[in-house]
Amino acid sequence: MTTDPLHETEIARTLHRCAVVGMPWISLDKRFVRRLVDEGYDEVTILGQGDWDSFDPNRPGITDGFPIDQAERFAEMAHAAGLRVKVFTGYIKYQERILQSDPSRALIRLDPAEMLDSDGVTSNWLCPFQPRNLEDYRNYLKKICRWPGLVEIFLNDEASLGAATNIGCYCQYCSGRFEERTGRPPPRRIDWDSDLWWQWIEYRMDEWTDLHARLRARVRQLLPEVTVSIQHSPLPAVFEINPWKSAVNLGRDARTLDSLCVDPYHQNHCNRIAYRPHRRILAEAARSLIGACLDKPASVMPQAFMPPGRSADLTRQDGLLAGVVPYALGAATIAPYQYHLGTIIPGFNEGLLETRKLQPQFARHEPYAFATVIAPIQSEIFGYPELDWSSRYLTHFADLMYRMGVPWRWFWDDRLYDQADALTGPLIVPDAHCLTRPQIESIRAVADRGEGVIWIGNTPDQAWSGRGPCRPPAKLEFGDIELELDRAHAIHDGLTGPVMLRTHVASAGPDNRSGEVLGTVDGRPGLVLFESGAGREAWLTGVPAFDYVQKSDHSAVRTPASGRELFQRLLLWVADRPPLARLDPFPAPNAYGRLRAWDTRDVPTIELLPMASPDSILATIFHYAPVACETRLLIAPPDGRSVGRAVELWHDVDVTEQFGQDGAGHACLPLDVPGDSELLSILIDLA
Ligand SMILES: [Zn+2]
Repeated sequence: MTTDPLHETEIARTLHRCAVVGMPWISLDKRFVRRLVDEGYDEVTILGQGDWDSFDPNRPGITDGFPIDQAERFAEMAHAAGLRVKVFTGYIKYQERILQSDPSRALIRLDPAEMLDSDGVTSNWLCPFQPRNLEDYRNYLKKICRWPGLVEIFLNDEASLGAATNIGCYCQYCSGRFEERTGRPPPRRIDWDSDLWWQWIEYRMDEWTDLHARLRARVRQLLPEVTVSIQHSPLPAVFEINPWKSAVNLGRDARTLDSLCVDPYHQNHCNRIAYRPHRRILAEAARSLIGACLDKPASVMPQAFMPPGRSADLTRQDGLLAGVVPYALGAATIAPYQYHLGTIIPGFNEGLLETRKLQPQFARHEPYAFATVIAPIQSEIFGYPELDWSSRYLTHFADLMYRMGVPWRWFWDDRLYDQADALTGPLIVPDAHCLTRPQIESIRAVADRGEGVIWIGNTPDQAWSGRGPCRPPAKLEFGDIELELDRAHAIHDGLTGPVMLRTHVASAGPDNRSGEVLGTVDGRPGLVLFESGAGREAWLTGVPAFDYVQKSDHSAVRTPASGRELFQRLLLWVADRPPLARLDPFPAPNAYGRLRAWDTRDVPTIELLPMASPDSILATIFHYAPVACETRLLIAPPDGRSVGRAVELWHDVDVTEQFGQDGAGHACLPLDVPGDSELLSILIDLA
């Protein structure tokens, strides 16, 4: 990920196309392996069968995966064909047969009701900590480590220690271990005023991290070069579960492991994930995972299967989505799940194969982000544990950023521990009050370099110790809150509607800092600007609303409001440089909105996913839903450079002559995107 392409040297990213392969009865065939090579795959991920028994011929098809002996034979074939070999090893999921014979090996949750998978199917899991379970799993890993060509092992596929508030593990072994440490059995009643409850919550998260660190160390002892990862459910990546429940904190996992993977099945998971249009579920989960991984490679597993009873139809456009969007956002690997199921979807595989023509350009460019947003996961765990805070707050925030037309990225707060040097501005710090002293200093360093910071809502009133609760300094409220702009300033000059906020805090803003108060809420400062020789900062009391619905109207009726536009202007004002590439106007006026200007369900249908190299910009614009729209691509070349030749690569059209200049010194390309457009990928040479 780059925020400053001028300082890069030549870029050569290694990108991988991975075929996820199960179904040994059709896969164990050299001709099939050759087909994968012919289709441009350089990797396979072998699906383990899940349980550790040999394949049961009396129950064929109970899982897609390979029994271990057949998996090894497939690994040999793939390796002989020059493919890198990866493996999904499962662990606590898919062990129903073991649990039937010995229920004491199960993960025990607060509520004995069955665990729900992110697909809404039920499954019962093993306790990950019991020595017998671990011993069996280690032995299984040891066998896998003999395979030829093995480059990556995914541990504990889609696992977690809880869903909703139904947390574990309360098995006899886990309860005993906690009691040894604290003298008390693990508490069963949620009590945020209890030290014991907090000890239990932190203990579970620590044990989860430690378990995978130990498993990684074990594998690396045997195979020092092998990458050890986890393939996570999309729920942590899209902020739909508080990490105190799941024990999964992607930032922490990224620090512990070599790589992470996520499987955001945009049609299968759409009842749990609110991003729209549906294909954005893939984009937002990928953006978030990459914001946790930072320096570690990220793999994205797009949906390439279509259970007729579960998924809306996938089409050629979903094949294009799988082959374009993850790479453009910074993923190193795409691994559509799964190969054989993708080939029976009309058009899907053809689209996926066609995206190979863009892959060399994706490898030559780094994803470019203008704005960086701190993902305040510590604040969620230690400040707002009672609420489904991030599913209300951070998903709204991602939806707001999507409507800004500027490229942006997440930066998970946990990575401030080890990746602070990669933090850049303009930086947005949304209600991240729970930060340690070094973390606060890394954010201050961005401000001191003059790159621009926007603080929103609660800010750290004192440094957090790194353990235990961290109550928000002021109460955060959700609602329709109007920011009264009472002082003239170019930032809000000409805004036509009221500035509505989705949240606000009952606070006067950052302590001990005097700035220019531009707006108020209930008589308290609501928008404050800080300008010094070092640069610009701003504080906003809450997150702007991008849609405002008056209480008297039905909930799809939008009243024009200006929160989004104010926020966009504020971002450009604090920044010390313009975005290298952006879309303007944005949201792009579209055919649906021209007929139904009032409809809040009219969401933007295209996204600019730019990449940069020292000599060029690759501006990919993906069409998430088939609606015609018009906008402009604005390019602000770095100082001393200008736009040279430009070619739209997807349709192979030279667009150099279509570039003009706007009044502000941008090179601008008018875009008239028809409803049936698939994508645009414009390669712009910098002269
Ligand atoms: Zn247990």
